Amino acid sequence: MEKFLTDLHSHSAFSFDGVNALSEMLESALEKGVAFYGVSEHVDFDICPEAQLVRKQEIDAEAYFHTARHLQEDYAGCMNVLVGAEFGYSDDRAIQEKYIAFYRRYQPDFVVNSVHSKDGWDFSLKRAFYEDGRLRDKKEAYADYFRLVQKSLDAPYPYDIIGHFTYVVRYGPYENPSASLAEFGAEIDGVLKGIIEREKILETNTSMHGGKGLALPAREILERYFALGGRAVSFGSDAHTTARIVERRTEVVSLLKEIGFTYITVPCKGERIKVEI
Ligand SMILES: [Zn+2]
Ligand SMILES: [Zn+2]
Repeated sequence: MEKFLTDLHSHSAFSFDGVNALSEMLESALEKGVAFYGVSEHVDFDICPEAQLVRKQEIDAEAYFHTARHLQEDYAGCMNVLVGAEFGYSDDRAIQEKYIAFYRRYQPDFVVNSVHSKDGWDFSLKRAFYEDGRLRDKKEAYADYFRLVQKSLDAPYPYDIIGHFTYVVRYGPYENPSASLAEFGAEIDGVLKGIIEREKILETNTSMHGGKGLALPAREILERYFALGGRAVSFGSDAHTTARIVERRTEVVSLLKEIGFTYITVPCKGERIKVEI
């Protein structure tokens, strides 16, 4: 039995796709015995205006940080609430400037840096997998994703966690959507080594949208990361409802222990807390 449960990736109704109010999420996390609970509402400056028409994604950041900071104080002493954000990475300099300004203004306790989109379109909207109406070769479409993740490691704003690495496998419309080491060894190694060199944290994320495995990234990638010397991992359910908070954490933790990991890393205001597993 673990002493301290952590869940560092979650969304409330402040996010466009969140369901429960933040207060409900926190109450549920406390009931489940969570010791470190990270709120990482979406900040999606990467989504283009055309895609915003399909799915509006703006956050009311003033309201979020105001409410979340109050709740953080209310929970002090019974649960560590970390008020963070999930930044949707873009390699567009003008968009990066917006994240820099956002970070300065709101000073989140931690940032999950996630690649969700290419050319302003979230991979979940599938556009990145097609060209002129035809399905692209998986190798090419996924290579675009890996290039963006590699670039995201040098994002010009502070961040802590690389969110749901290999995100494309959730949405790739291929018979076998996985991104294995056999197919993408060089790309995956590049990212893993980059995370280690920069002392960032690799997330294990249990939101798999349709049961394509336990978590992102897959076991062989976690093993590779460990073999390369990577030790900093976080756990995130990516819950958008109270029901999914800490979902499949027990399985992920036993997998991590089997591989050799002995702790989960919790980032807070630039510090790194090692939580034994
Ligand atoms: Zn995400
Ligand atoms: Zn998320």
